[in-house]
Amino acid sequence: MYVSFNEIQNALKNTETSCVKLVESYLQTISQKNSELCAFLEVYDTEALQRAKEIDQKIAEGKAGKLAGMVVGLKDVLCYKNHSLQSSSQILQGFESQFTGTAVQRLLDEDAIIIGRQNCDEFAMGSTTETSAFGVTRNAANPNHVPGGSSGGSAVAVQAGMCLVSLGSDTGGSVRQPASFCGLTGLKPTYSRISRYGLIAYASSFDCIGVLAQATQDIALVLEIIAGKDDFDSTVSQRDVPPYSQLLNHNEQKYKIAYYREIFEGEGLTEDVRQATQQKIDALRAEGHTVEAVDFPLLEYVLPTYYILTMAEASTNLSRYDGVRYGYRSEKATDLESMFKLSRSEGFGEEVKRRIMLGTFVLSASYYDAYFTKAQKVRRLIKQKTTELLGQYDFIISPTAPTTAPEFGTFAENPIQMYLADIFSVQANVVGIPAISVPNGEDENGLPIGLQIMANSFEESKLLAFAHYLNTYK
Ligand code: GLN
Repeated sequence: MYVSFNEIQNALKNTETSCVKLVESYLQTISQKNSELCAFLEVYDTEALQRAKEIDQKIAEGKAGKLAGMVVGLKDVLCYKNHSLQSSSQILQGFESQFTGTAVQRLLDEDAIIIGRQNCDEFAMGSTTETSAFGVTRNAANPNHVPGGSSGGSAVAVQAGMCLVSLGSDTGGSVRQPASFCGLTGLKPTYSRISRYGLIAYASSFDCIGVLAQATQDIALVLEIIAGKDDFDSTVSQRDVPPYSQLLNHNEQKYKIAYYREIFEGEGLTEDVRQATQQKIDALRAEGHTVEAVDFPLLEYVLPTYYILTMAEASTNLSRYDGVRYGYRSEKATDLESMFKLSRSEGFGEEVKRRIMLGTFVLSASYYDAYFTKAQKVRRLIKQKTTELLGQYDFIISPTAPTTAPEFGTFAENPIQMYLADIFSVQANVVGIPAISVPNGEDENGLPIGLQIMANSFEESKLLAFAHYLNTYK
């Protein structure tokens, strides 16, 4: 099993392999493992093989793009023309993308091969992939445990060798937390770094496309190809995109790193995660980096701010699914109003309905100021304080999640418990800064632990170089 694109490129060069052979071997792994793990909802076998043949031809002619031989999976929230897209929800039953999103198009333009569509939490709402309408994805490290979420299928696909790289989406940790639970590296870039054109919206001012892989170089390479300005997304950053994959050498640089004192004082962190994080801090100090505990008094407001604002945005974004133009329509409807009501009641799952209702509540005339306006003000404060801190430090580190992957059903009775576990990951989205999760050992049961690193806006080069250093030298 190849774990980096570098290895694949070398093998292609020495003609040890070909794109067709690569795709065949991924398809074989999928046929062996996917019925148990349920990482893919749909596999584009014939099409991927056909494309592999064409790209082999291009390689032979010396005309291949930069990603020739990279086999990629897409979370079920990314538009790929003439392919089904459901956001793991019944409400999008029968829906096919009418166009290809920018990030996906840029991968295709560089000759990546798309191998299939991956399971996730319904509309990317969740942390376990249990809210999917199409069954749960299982963690390949231990199938009784969740893979994390919402991009759980995307993580397991890479973890189990069913593709090399996955594109996911991260609104509050959905790329980083499953990366952490599955022993991978997962990047959420700065908000607006990658066009959102062709990404199904959950909470538009938080949503980011992100990348999951084994090798940091692969993440850097994919980012440099998919990031940057785009006529189809007026919110995307106009800044130039650095050649991230060539900037991974850290040159013995010594960094100044902060971590929140509260993290080690609070409850909820398991002993294994605490120890692994502490050991990493000690190791970084031993390498000559400065690592300091700092106070972040706004920490307790980060989660409520995130959940109030994302639910508000979700309630408006999801109002378009009404059974009229596309997707699921209830057969029991007798008139227009009952068609809206029944289609939505039957088409959406429980978690999505909970969020639409809470979001509608915080946006209602009588509560708008108390919740929505206030949360926006707090978001502003959190942003200001975080940016200030990142003016003094290169990075803020923490565990990616307070625990390793829980067993299925852990949050069944108590969704609040699930929301609380997002404590470390949502800050990057509230603020809009980039963050990455890198593997940081395992717990006593062999389940992966992740370390999260946050950096200031548009500092992906520095962030990726540091992640590369941690992944390579530690
Ligand atoms: N677990 C978080 C939520 O449920 C994050 C989801 C995401 O990033 N898409 O909102």
